[in-house]
Amino acid sequence: MVPSRSATAGSTSMYIGRFAPSPTGELHFGSLLAALASYLDAKSNAGIWLLRIDDLDPPREIPGASSKIISTLETFGLLWDREIVYQSQRYSHYQEALARLSALALTYPCNCSRKAIKARSGHSHYDGHCLIHKVPHCSTKYCWRFNTQRHSISWTDGIQGLQSLHYPQLADFILKRSDHLWAYQLAVAVDDQQMGITDIVRGNDLLEESAKQLALIAALNLQPINFNHIPLALNPQGQKLSKQNLAPALSTQKITSTLFRALCLLGQTPDKALLQADKSELLKQATLDWNVNRIPLKYPDNSFS
Ligand SMILES: [Zn+2]
Repeated sequence: MVPSRSATAGSTSMYIGRFAPSPTGELHFGSLLAALASYLDAKSNAGIWLLRIDDLDPPREIPGASSKIISTLETFGLLWDREIVYQSQRYSHYQEALARLSALALTYPCNCSRKAIKARSGHSHYDGHCLIHKVPHCSTKYCWRFNTQRHSISWTDGIQGLQSLHYPQLADFILKRSDHLWAYQLAVAVDDQQMGITDIVRGNDLLEESAKQLALIAALNLQPINFNHIPLALNPQGQKLSKQNLAPALSTQKITSTLFRALCLLGQTPDKALLQADKSELLKQATLDWNVNRIPLKYPDNSFS
């Protein structure tokens, strides 16, 4: 299964980019890098930039995080072009996509626990057990999985270059969880398509998720998307900057200097005079000067200490 990722995905229609944070915490500097890179790539391609709140997982959400994310983006001058999309309002679209995949015989129910999967295969990647041994009808708690048919996915990332993912890393992944919540990959594939997204710029930690998204794009015959994965911001302990690792929320005090620092880390060479500019002037100049090819594969050591 090699999706026909075409370099023309962005050139046959207007560039539409997006930022899609989950409201599991406030934005931190790592999220700003992704938002800024995505914003500048869209604007420098005369495109539009959309905001989607990926609020699929209520138990993990922090009350008030959505509105804080929105106000922080506004404070940094990263303004989106259309109405904000909330995944929590789009469940019927995910149900339709699941039905389409089921009609293609590409789904199956599974009632394996994580423990059972690990006990069988020695790792956390799903082994296809329930595809062969059907879930008993008496089972009440089961998820729906996508049948990858153990195909591989290969694509060219705009920053990271040629990528591929195979079984077991690309195993039959979950589409709808046993607690009836929708899984990330299905929701994102459906929403990106319906929002007309042509290009995604985001953190490298989602590289494997992109492979799964591409598998769904191919299965549902959706429009291809160009992916660009920026390096992951790591703390001095080598952990991803995240709320779980106690990354501090973005300060809304030194807006211009924070944007300037982000631009430098993204390999751009902003004029130091911009440190005296206001955020809109800085973003305007950064858009004119933006060059995605300058984004490094890795940030310098201790960039986030
Ligand atoms: Zn199973």
